[in-house]
Order: sequence, then structure tokens, then C-alpha cells
Amino acid sequence: MDVSAMTKKELAELIAVNAAAPDPALMAEAAAVRDKSYGRRVFVRGLIEFTNRCRNNCLYCGIRAANGNVRRYRLTKDEIMECVKEGRALGFSTFVLQGGEDMYYTDDVLSDIVYSIKELAPDCAVTLSVGERPRESYKRLKDAGADRYLLRHETASEPHYKKLHPDDMSLKNRIRCLYDLKELGYQVGAGFMVGSPYQTYEDLASDLLFLKELDPHMVGIGPFISQTDTPFCDMKNGTLELTLTMLSLVRLMLPKTLLPATTALGTIDSRGREKGFDAGANVVMPNLSPRERRKDYSLYDNKLATGAESAEKIDELRALIENAGYMMDMGRGDSLVNIDRKDKKYEYKQ
Ligand code: SAH
Repeated sequence: MDVSAMTKKELAELIAVNAAAPDPALMAEAAAVRDKSYGRRVFVRGLIEFTNRCRNNCLYCGIRAANGNVRRYRLTKDEIMECVKEGRALGFSTFVLQGGEDMYYTDDVLSDIVYSIKELAPDCAVTLSVGERPRESYKRLKDAGADRYLLRHETASEPHYKKLHPDDMSLKNRIRCLYDLKELGYQVGAGFMVGSPYQTYEDLASDLLFLKELDPHMVGIGPFISQTDTPFCDMKNGTLELTLTMLSLVRLMLPKTLLPATTALGTIDSRGREKGFDAGANVVMPNLSPRERRKDYSLYDNKLATGAESAEKIDELRALIENAGYMMDMGRGDSLVNIDRKDKKYEYKQ
């Protein structure tokens, strides 16, 4: 199916038809496209959630600044280095540093951490996921050795973006960040939540068209899951079925992108990750944060951080992957999408 030739209306219709039950033929085609690009390998990344302090107030997120019920923490450089050492010993070769927008981590502080990780583990990739920063900041972090950056666009529809975020945030700036990151030579990950409040099938179609235009190296997609202490506490969760549909459509749109079966997918369904692989996903990101901090990085309710979602249970994860008919790959797992540094400017139109 040539999804990259479809209009927004056609995509929205295709999503609607598959929303409640993804067509097995669609998923099989997406899985075959993944196999052709990457084979049956599933790449693993060690996720270090290094701060749950955040200046923002995204309406869906459990670590939003206004949530007074979070036990806040930030890891020291030494604590982060300990996580990396533990991960190295377990065989990981990608470390993802994710956190809220915590300005304690200035360019100097964060560059020093990135530099030290690369010094300790030059053969490993460092991925940052620390939100919106000025281009100059992204440049400094790149110069310090960062290889990749994850920044989900969250939704490519301007009116929908406004319903998910406070007035001081804008889709325009988020997209500016993604294009800056690409131009600076990062491997870039965009992405969105499925079933987030007020989302329509047209919005999801816009996400696909936006991704086609951006051509990211990675795409993070997971279901929205409500969190008790947020304004969206009573909103319905995204479904497994619609998430699988969107994974397959992204895979068909972007054959060479890296596509995680996310923790949120594993949280809404006990076999969510395996089903994600069968829909075209090929990455998992088990948790490598200090054990005692994991429950405090509470983006949404019941977030998994045990068993195959925890880095120290890598054997459980290996078994899960192999039982699903795949192979675990602990290499760097770089994206096959070119790093082009071309001065491609933002052209996407709604
Ligand atoms: N501050 C960083 C990291 C954000 S947390 C940034 O801005 O990129 C990583 C991702 O978790 C977010 O991009 C969002 O898509 C997802 N997330 C947050 N709250 C969620 C929820 N309630 N349900 C599902 N996913 C959520």
C-alpha cells in the first residue's frame, strides 16, 4: 500500500477503518517493510530518566510543574555515570538521557555529562531527550558528543496542540527545534501520543504527513494514558488497536525509521510490545534509572518499570523478544535514514 502518496483525507479514512481493529494484512505489510530494512532485529536502548523536575505544564503529563504530588529528584553527574557503567556491564551501547525541562542542567552541566559518557564509552551512542532549547544549546550538546535527540512533536495539528499545552508553548517552536536538530546533524526522533484528548483521525493523518516531510531517524509513538494529578485525569486512554494501526502506517510511510514499541504500549497491554513488533516496530528502551527513582518519573499512571522494562532484567527482555520471533541486538543500532545536514527548511503545511 503506497501510504506516502495518500492525501490527508485518504489517510484519515484509512485510519478510521483500522482504528478499532488493525487489518492483519496492513500489519503484515508493515512488518515485511521493517524486515527488508532492518531484518528481524530489535534494538535496545538504556533509558536514564535523570530528572523529573520540569518548568512546563503540558496538560497530559504527570511531571508537569504544577503537580505538587510528585517527589522531585535530579540525578548528579556521578549517579548518571553509575547508570551508564551498569548499562555498559549489561551490554548496552545506547544511552538515552531523558528528563523534564530542568534548567539546572545548563549547557555547561549537560555538555560535561555528555562528554564524560562519551569519554567512558566512546563506542556508545548518547541520545538526549530534554525538550525545547535554543539552537545554540543543541549545537553545544552536539559538539560535546551527543549523537541523537528525541523530541516528540506530540501533534502536528496547531488547534490540537493548543488543547494539549498551555499558552506559553507552541507547535511552531517545537518544529523549529526538530529542524534545528536535523540541520545540526543529530539523528532525530519525533513522535506523538495516540488517543490523546481531543485528537481526531484528521489530526493523526496530519501527524503522518508531518513525519513524511520531516523524515526523522526515529519515531516514538505510544498510547496516551491518563495520570491522576493532571487536568486530563478523567480522559480516556488511547487504545492498543489504534496504536498498532499508527505504528504500521508510520512504518509504511518511513521504511527506514527506527520505531520503538514503547513502555506505554507495554503498559496498556501485557503483550503490547510483541504486538508492536508485529506491527513494524523494532526498538525497546528498558529503564536504567536508579531503582528507587523509577516510580517518581510518573508521566502516566501504572507506568511499567519492572520485568522486561528494567535494564537489569535484560534476560527477560531477550526471552520476550525471542519468543516473539525476533533477535535482540545490543549494538548501537544507528538509523538507516541518512544524516544529511542539508539546509532543509520547514515547509509543512496543514
Ligand atoms: N521533556 C522531554 C521529555 C518528555 S517525556 C520532552 O519534552 O521531550 C517523554 C514523552 O512522554 C513525551 O514526549 C510524551 O509524548 C510522553 N507522555 C507524557 N505524558 C504522557 C501520558 N500521560 N501518556 C502517554 N505518554 C505521555
